[in-house]
Amino acid sequence: MTTIVKDGVIRVPSGLKVKAASYASIEKLADSIRPNLPVKKGERFCLDALTIFERTFPQIGYPYRTAGIDEIDECAAFTITSPDGNVVVMREDVYDKLHAENPFGRSTVIHELSHIAQAHPITLYRGATLGGHRFCEDSEWQAKAGTAALMMPLAACQIAKSPQELAAMCGTSVESATYRIKTLVGKLKTLTPSFPLWEYGSE
Ligand SMILES: [Zn+2]
Repeated sequence: MTTIVKDGVIRVPSGLKVKAASYASIEKLADSIRPNLPVKKGERFCLDALTIFERTFPQIGYPYRTAGIDEIDECAAFTITSPDGNVVVMREDVYDKLHAENPFGRSTVIHELSHIAQAHPITLYRGATLGGHRFCEDSEWQAKAGTAALMMPLAACQIAKSPQELAAMCGTSVESATYRIKTLVGKLKTLTPSFPLWEYGSE
């Protein structure tokens, strides 16, 4: 989620262009970051999203806070930079999901990390209210690609025999795992599928 503020007024960032990125460049960035991220105890690939949210974010200068649904009903979370300090804001119900290890709660954390890692322009000035945000297609696409790359590295995809297995190994939804396999096979061409793609189910 990206917010821009100009002259103290929140603008809808339609058409906001971020630096172009390819699947391959996002993959490379994710590979460079992942070794520094904690994985869940006893797991090889499953990122410890809760620890990333509560410890890693403050360590890299992005402390977190939660917000009520009435404050940010439009989105699960967003990250802002501000002269008063950076912050990652997560909606309370999503924070509960994160604590429950729900794939949506987990992926929301990595999505925001992906925005931070890709240095998307996110600025909120004092006096601006939360909410009033709208997706920016470009930066959202990049953040989503980065989230998948961070959560489901190629090594995991090579081992997994199905999207279900990949999802279990990486703590994602089966839908995300399916999409990830299709991206690696069809777009990046770095993965040979274990089965014909149609067996992975519909889009
Ligand atoms: Zn986003």
